Amino acid sequence: MPGMFKTFRFRLFLSYLALSAAVLGAAFFLVYQCIERAELSTLKSKLLDEAALVSAQLRSSDLASPGLHALAHSLGLKVRSRLTIIGADGRVLADSELDVAGVRAMENHSSRPEVAGAMKGGPSYDLRRSATLGKAMLYAAYPVSSGARVVAVARLTIPAAQLEAAMTMLKKALSAALALAFLLSFLLGLAVSGGFSRSFNKIVYGSKKFAAGNFSYRIQKDFHGEMGKLAETLNSMSAAIEENLRRVEFQSQQLAAAFANMAEGVLITGPDARVTALNPAIERMFGVKAETSVSKPLLEVILNARLSGICGRAVSGGKPVWEETELFAPVRGVFSVNASPLFEGGAVSGCLMVVHDVTEVRRLEAGRRDFVANVSHELKTPLTAIRGCAETLLEGAIDDREHAMKFLGVICEHSKRLDNIVGDLLKLSALESYAAEVKKEAVGLKDLADSLVTSLASVFRSKKAVVSNIIPADLRVNADPEKLGQVFINLLDNAVKFSPESPKVEISAQELPGSVKVLVRDNGTGIPQSRLARVFERFYRVDQARSRETGGTGLGLSIVKHVVELHGGSVGVESAEGRGSTFWFTIPK
Ligand code: ADP
Repeated sequence: MPGMFKTFRFRLFLSYLALSAAVLGAAFFLVYQCIERAELSTLKSKLLDEAALVSAQLRSSDLASPGLHALAHSLGLKVRSRLTIIGADGRVLADSELDVAGVRAMENHSSRPEVAGAMKGGPSYDLRRSATLGKAMLYAAYPVSSGARVVAVARLTIPAAQLEAAMTMLKKALSAALALAFLLSFLLGLAVSGGFSRSFNKIVYGSKKFAAGNFSYRIQKDFHGEMGKLAETLNSMSAAIEENLRRVEFQSQQLAAAFANMAEGVLITGPDARVTALNPAIERMFGVKAETSVSKPLLEVILNARLSGICGRAVSGGKPVWEETELFAPVRGVFSVNASPLFEGGAVSGCLMVVHDVTEVRRLEAGRRDFVANVSHELKTPLTAIRGCAETLLEGAIDDREHAMKFLGVICEHSKRLDNIVGDLLKLSALESYAAEVKKEAVGLKDLADSLVTSLASVFRSKKAVVSNIIPADLRVNADPEKLGQVFINLLDNAVKFSPESPKVEISAQELPGSVKVLVRDNGTGIPQSRLARVFERFYRVDQARSRETGGTGLGLSIVKHVVELHGGSVGVESAEGRGSTFWFTIPK
C-alpha cells in the first residue's frame, strides 16, 4: 500500500487536488471579503441615511426642551435603532433606550470616533466593540446644525450581529458551493489521473518488455495526444531495433557459417591470450575441441610455443605477423600462420590467427622438385653414354669397324632407353593431366589377360616363362581396356624381368563385394620387406643396376598405380625376398 503513494497516478491526483483546494480557497476568501465589504457598506449607508433623517427632525430649540427624551424615544422606534443625542460638548442629552437617570450616568462621548467626526460637520461612521455591551456595534453619527454651527450630534447604533448573521449565512452557502466544487474536482481529478495513468502504465509495461529484449511487442495505442505520440515513437523505435537486430543476426549467421566452413583454421584470443573462439578447421588440424578450449590460455589449448609466440608478437607489435612454420607438436606439419591484432577502442584487445595447413602443398612441391631432379638424372646417364660413344667414333674409332659397331650398339641401346623413359613419362603425364580420359566399357578380364599374354609371347619365350591365366571366364569389369591392358603388361613384364630363368607366373582374380581383385604372382626375386612401401614411387628401383640392365625405367609401377586409381581402385603388393611377389589391384565392378 505505501507504494501506492509513490505512483504517478497518486501524485498527479494529489497535485490536482492541491491545486483545486488552493484555487477554491482563494476564491472563497476573495468572494467572502468582497461580499462582506459590500454588505457592510450597504448597512453603513442605510444607517447614515437614517441618521441624516433623524438629525433633520431635530431643531436646536428641541435640545434644551424637556420633551427631548420623548422625541428621542419616538424617533428611535421609527428607525428601529438606538438613537443617542449628544451635545456639542460631548455630553449625552438623550438616549432612546435609557431614562433620564441613565442618560445622566453616561460618560462624555466627545472622544468617540464617530461623534468626533460628526462634530466636524459631516457624517461619520464606526464599527467597534462596545465598551458597555461587549458586542460588535455599528455606529453612524450625523451633525445637527444651527446655521453653520454644529450644535449636537444624532447617533444611531445597531448591533453588528445582524451583519454577522448575514455573513454566517453567506459563509455556509459559500462553503457548500466550495465543498461541491471540491467534490467535483476530486472526481474529475480521479478520472483524469486514472485515464492518464492507464496510458502511462501501458507505456511503462511496453518499455519494460522492450528493455527485456522483446522487440516484437507493440504498445496498444488506444490513447491520443502526447502519450499517444510517445507510444508511437517507442513502437517505431522498437520496430527499428527489431529490424536492425534481424539484420545483425543474419549477418552473424553468415559470418558463423563462413567461420564454420572455412578450410583455414581460425582462432581468436582475448586480451589475456585466452582463446575466445576457434573454428572446426582448427579442431581438425590440432585435434582440439572448441567447447573445452574456450577461455583457456592459447598455449594450453595448442601445446606449441611457436604458435603462441606468433600471436604474442602480433599483439605486442600491434601489426599483422605472417610466418610459415614447421611444427612437430601437437601435430606434425607445415603451417602458414597469419596473426593480426584485434583492436577495441584504439587498444589491442586480442589476436585473430588464421592457420593454413600447407603440409601437402609443400610435400607436392618437394615431390615435383625431386621428380625434375630424378628425370634429369635418368636422362643424363644414357645421354652421357651416347655422347661418349659418338665422340669416340668422331675421334677416329669409326674407322675401326669392329669397335665402331660396338659403339653404335651402345648408342642404339641407350637411345632405346631414352625412348622408353620419355615414353613412360609421356604416359604418366597423360594419366596425371586433368583431362585424363577413362573410356569405360564392360571388359572380360580373362580375354583381356589372354590377349596380352599372347602379345608378350616372345618375351616369355626368351625367358622360358610359364604363364597361366586362371581368371574365371565370365568375370567382367567396367574399365578402359587400353589402360587396363597397360597395367597387365607392366605387371607381367616385371614378373618375368625380376625372376631367374623359367619363372612361373600366375594371373588370377577374386570377386570382392563391389569390386574385382586381380593378382599377378611370380616366383622371382621378391622384394625386401623394407622396400615394399616404396615400389610404386616414380623412379624407385629396388636394385638400380638390375633394373637398368633389364631396360626398366622405374616408372612402370607408378603407371599401374595411376591407372588403377583413375578407375577408383587400389594397388598393393605382398612379397618375400627370394620367394616371389604377388602384385594385386582392385577395379570397381
Ligand atoms: P622398372 O622399370 O624398374 O621395372 P617399376 O616401377 O615397374 O620399374 O618397378 C619398380 C621396382 O620394383 C623395380 O625396379 C623392381 O626393383 C621392383 N619390382 C617390380 N616388380 C617386381 C617383381 N615382380 N618382383 C620383384 N621386384 C619387382
